[in-house]
Amino acid sequence: MGRDEVASLLQARGPDLAALYARADEARRICCGDGVPVRAIIEFSNMCSNDCLYCGLRASNAVPRRYRMTPEEILQAVARVAAAGVAGTVVLQAGETPGYRDEEITALLRQIRGKFPALAITLSVGNRPREVYAAWREAGMDRYLLRFETADADLFARLHPDGSLADRLQCLRDLQELGVQTGGGFMIGVPGETVETLADNIMLCQAFDFDMIGIGPFIPNPDTPLGAAANAYAADPDMFFRAIAVLRLANPAAHIPATTAFDAAFPNGRDLALQRGANVFMPNVTPGACRKDYQLYPKKPCVDGDADAEDGLGGVRKRLQALGRPIAGGPGHSLKR
Ligand code: SAH
Ligand code: SF4
Repeated sequence: MGRDEVASLLQARGPDLAALYARADEARRICCGDGVPVRAIIEFSNMCSNDCLYCGLRASNAVPRRYRMTPEEILQAVARVAAAGVAGTVVLQAGETPGYRDEEITALLRQIRGKFPALAITLSVGNRPREVYAAWREAGMDRYLLRFETADADLFARLHPDGSLADRLQCLRDLQELGVQTGGGFMIGVPGETVETLADNIMLCQAFDFDMIGIGPFIPNPDTPLGAAANAYAADPDMFFRAIAVLRLANPAAHIPATTAFDAAFPNGRDLALQRGANVFMPNVTPGACRKDYQLYPKKPCVDGDADAEDGLGGVRKRLQALGRPIAGGPGHSLKR
């Protein structure tokens, strides 16, 4: 799909918008099927050395409690995921060092790989040297999530005191070259972006041909320098869904999750995302005691619950049933998905 078409679809309104959503849903059905892969996310540390301007975990923010789950706690959480038979993948996400050192993550990956051979392991802990990604791959990491956040290099630099867009894209190329299933993506509506930027974000995903693409609305966090800034599309929240629909059409075969930020930004936002292009669901299975301290942005759903609550694994089947969508692979299916 060319950039002009992407840019023009991002302006769709009225009947054209309804047609865009229907087309994206059809493309999702043809390329991915109706089954929804469930990927359970464990937020294993909120420590972070970076200072990304939008994020509640940024090093300069006085978070009430900085935590790191012990390897035993992480293995227990993974064991619960494996036993539930709903998710084929565990996603381990955290801030950047120093919560866990690179060698500690390598050891953790080896343990999970050894104990749970049927689960796919996804990691998401930011920029690292290629050798580190290689060691993690060798230790059993299957996938990696690293959003490029915005395709505008100047805007990236303003948002990230700790790195450049070029560095971030190099990390993504390294991961792809190492044979890791790689997920990129971006935030929708960071202050300073335009619809042109959004079109460029979608085109960059297409150019990388990512296996997974995670996108979600920017949500102002009052404890950050961008706390008073509004989402660029606050007056036109349909743009969140235009983005996911056009992303699907431009990347028909990619795994596109209905990310948590959609729920935080719009009522039933994740359900709508799943009907407008997204195909993956990522329930949060972080133990309740840690979950309330992992606040990337405010009003993050399910902070009061734990892994068994509605928005943890317990509610997934019900939520997907209401949409008429089965869990991919079905219960007890052992294939990594
Ligand atoms: N430290 C890792 C993983 C945790 S952050 C990393 O940065 O890659 C995961 C994602 O949360 C980021 O990629 C960013 O897109 C998103 N995020 C952070 N703050 C946000 C906010 N205020 N609104 C919406 N998304 C946010
Ligand atoms: Fe740290 Fe990731 Fe938040 Fe940036 S987005 S401050 S790297 S947790």
